[in-house]
Parts: sequence; structure tokens; C-alpha cells
Amino acid sequence: MTKYDNNFTDQLRERLSIVDVVSRRVPLKKKGQNYWGCCPFHNEKTPSFSVNEDKGFFHCFGCGKHGDIISFTMETEHVDFKTAIAELADMAGLKLPDYKPKSQQQIDAEESYISITAAAAKMYAEKLFTPDGAHALEYVRRRGFSDEMIKKYGIGYAPKNNIISNKFANTKQEKIIATGLVRRGDYGLYDFFRDKLMFPIFNTHGQIVAFSGRSLDGSEPKYINTTDTEMFHKRQTLFGFNFARESIHRANRAIIVEGQIDAIQMQCHGFGETVAPLGTALTEDHIAILCKANRNIIFCFDGDNAGQKAAARACGLIIPFLRDNSDVRFAFVTGGKDPDEILRRGGAGDMKKIIDDAVPLVDFLWNTANKNFLVNTPSGKTQAEKFINTEIEKINDKLLRSQFAQEYNKRKFNEWHKWKKTPEIVPISVPKTDSVIKNTIIYIVNKYPEIAERYGDFIGGFNLDFNTDVNVDLNLDLKSAEKYLVSLKLQKYIENLELKKREITIGALSNGNDVRDEIRRIDDEIIKMKERFDLLV
Ligand SMILES: [Zn+2]
Repeated sequence: MTKYDNNFTDQLRERLSIVDVVSRRVPLKKKGQNYWGCCPFHNEKTPSFSVNEDKGFFHCFGCGKHGDIISFTMETEHVDFKTAIAELADMAGLKLPDYKPKSQQQIDAEESYISITAAAAKMYAEKLFTPDGAHALEYVRRRGFSDEMIKKYGIGYAPKNNIISNKFANTKQEKIIATGLVRRGDYGLYDFFRDKLMFPIFNTHGQIVAFSGRSLDGSEPKYINTTDTEMFHKRQTLFGFNFARESIHRANRAIIVEGQIDAIQMQCHGFGETVAPLGTALTEDHIAILCKANRNIIFCFDGDNAGQKAAARACGLIIPFLRDNSDVRFAFVTGGKDPDEILRRGGAGDMKKIIDDAVPLVDFLWNTANKNFLVNTPSGKTQAEKFINTEIEKINDKLLRSQFAQEYNKRKFNEWHKWKKTPEIVPISVPKTDSVIKNTIIYIVNKYPEIAERYGDFIGGFNLDFNTDVNVDLNLDLKSAEKYLVSLKLQKYIENLELKKREITIGALSNGNDVRDEIRRIDDEIIKMKERFDLLV
């Protein structure tokens, strides 16, 4: 079997979950770490056929049959290796490469690649502790790295001179160039990484296939990675995955953060199950690799706009991978910080709180729809509905899809339709409103949909047409807009109390009832509200 191109079969094993492959023929149920079903290779009524998702194999305790996705497909469908591969490639959405046995030349090329990158990593690691690397060492220590961490992650320093091209001067040029560590220039070979703090990037077998170099003089970009090579594909590599694999299994979840230093700090602060993409947006390949390792995933992003966008993207990517036993959540680190900073200032406890507060996917998708569309208008509501429908359409599990649809139908009814309700359910009746107030509210709702969501009941009471263009020359920031609404709400409430007081007084005049207690109560309330109002403005 090893005669065939191992890269592609590895890629298939990485992309496809054995549970998905087996489930197409054998109904499986999760019990403990494994999935169980009735063996397709011998006759049985009680399941003794187990599938281990992490390790990617099946084993039957009844007949002893054992194998992986490829042998399972070959034997249950009675097809040859090539056909099985073609079918699995199709299932994984991968293009089938031409099948050629791996040539000796290719095997040699891979071996030389790995030996060069390993030797380079060793040289970089040594350089970090020489006078040349003093500033790099000082930097990495300042970022909270202990010597133990430096050693574990193989962190090093690439000096300003060409150490790699010099060291391998006697090696065939093509071989060093293939690793991406060295380039060919007008004056011969030169090192790609210079004056950089170096982080080795490992493949799933724990071999170093590339490097990520951080600039130390403040120059941009902050990080440069080895450009893609035969053995390194950035879009298919998750930083820290080789270290995290065991922890992901034990913690029964994976955490994805944005930066590699974040990932290392998380791993060293008790969140061993953390990984990060390599300075790129998440790709479908990343998600596929993660979902194969574990279906419970927490995405941890910046709380800012870019972070929200990245989270929405991740959400769209992961939906096709959802299963009835997946738990996907979104955590946000706010205040312009990153996990690294949270961990250094507040420790693991602060980070744990952020992770524990992560929003489940079902809520995140709902919030995204509500945030991105003006659900207070018929067209906005339609857009939001279409968005949600398109997203849940991607769920493969039919039952799960219909559960999502039901949940959202409930929410649409309960939350969106409240806009239609008349002010009678709103404790504040709104007497008269001048056009400036009206236009200001329309402006706020259009500019800050999140406010519209929060003050929906109150705003709904004004019965405004939010599609009108307003000609107000306003420049309210989010905070002032919210303050405006709160003060307006208070003001209306106070007006309302005054109105009620007048009604009671007039009533008392005609029917002679004693309303002094009631008036006193209303007066107290008015004073209280006025105090709150004064605090605001
Ligand atoms: Zn069996």
C-alpha cells in the first residue's frame, strides 16, 4: 500500500471522519469514547463493532475485523483500492490526483526536506542563546515564555546572516530551496528568514515542515511564514495541533485562537486543546481537520468588528460539519486584548470565564442575523430570514436541520413579532412626539441595530416608518445614542406619571375619593425618576 502516494491517502484520512464513512452503511451510536454498531462483516444482533474516531479505525470484537476508512470502503463495497480512494475523494470533495507509486526520488526528496528543516530548527534554537540572539531572547522572555516553553516549542532565532545557505553549501541547491528556507538571488543563495524570532511548524506526524518568523524590529508584516512547499500547505495547517491532539481528546473539545503566541500561552496555561491558524483566515481544511479530532469546538476571537466578521465566517464554514453531538461555541475577548494578554494579566481564571461564556452556535447565528439586518422592517426581516435559511440549509443531518429550523421559527415568532405589538403591552404610553425626536430615533435604529434590538419595545411604541430617509445632521456615537434613548424613555415615563397624577386628581374631584396615598406614591416615583434622569444628562 505504501507504494501509493501516501500524501493523498493521509489527506483523505485527515479530511474524512471514519464515523461519517461507516455511518453511511452502519448506524452508529456513541457510547463512551467509541461509536458502536452491528458488524457489517459478520452476523450479529448486539453491537460489537466499534469505531474510534480519533484514531480513525474500526474494530470488531466479534469477528476481529479491523481497518480504516479505505479498507472499510473496499470491503463493504467490494471495490479495489483505487475505486475506494476515488469514492472517498469524492466524499471529501478532493480532486483525485493521478495515482502513481511514490518514486524513490520523491521519498528521498521528503527525507532530505525533513532533515534540512530539523537541522535548521536546531541551529535557530542554538542561536537564540548566543549574543546574536540576545534581543530575540529578551523579547520572548518578556512575552512570558519560560526556558521550558522555549525548548518545548523549539523557538529559535534566525540571525541576519545566511546561516542556512552557508551550512548546506554542499547540498544540492534544489534540495534546500525546496524547503523554502533559502532563495536564489542575483548573488547566489540567501536565507529567507533573517533577524526573526522563529517558531517551527510541525505536521501531524510531529515533523518540522515550515517556520513562522516574527519580526523583532517592529517592521511589518509582524509574521512571515514559509511559503507553501511540497510538504507544507498553510491553508491546511493548524499551529500547535501536534501538541494539542492528546489534550483535545482528553478535554473533549478544541479551542481555536487567532495567533500562534496565543495558542502557545493557552496550551501552557491549562488549555492544552488550543490551536491557531497561521496568520490566515480559517479555511474549510482547518475546520475539517479539527472536526475530525473533535466535534466540540470553541472559536475564540477578538470582540471587535473584525473578530465578529471572522466568527461569522467560521460559523458558515463549520455548519456543514455539524452533527447531533457537536457543541460549537463562540467566545470573544473584548477590550482590544488577546488571550495572551488576558492570561498574563488575569491568569487562567479570567480566560476560563471567557471560554465558559462562549455563545452556542444556535444563538450566535441568530444574533448575527439580528445584527446584520434591520429586523424591525419587513425587508430586513426577510433578508435575515433568508440568511438563516441559507445557513441551516448547509446542515447535513436532516433531523438536526429541522431542529434548527424549528428553533428559529419559535424565535422569529417570539422576538420579531413583538415589533407588531401595539404599545398596550409597553408600560409607557407615548403621548406626542415631535419630528426631531422621531428622526433621531430612526437615525439611531438605522445606525445602531444592536440598540434597536435592546430597546425594541420602547422604540416600537413610536410606530415609526424606519424606511424613511431622515435629514438630521447627527453624529451620535453608540454610547450617546443609547444615552439618548434611555433619557427619552425616562422622560416619557415621567410625563406619563404626571399624566396619571392629573387623571387621578381630576377623578378625585368628581367622586370625592381619598387619593392622597396614591398621589404621594406617584410623586415619590417621579422624584426617583428625575434623579435618575439628572444622573444621565
Ligand atoms: Zn464482526
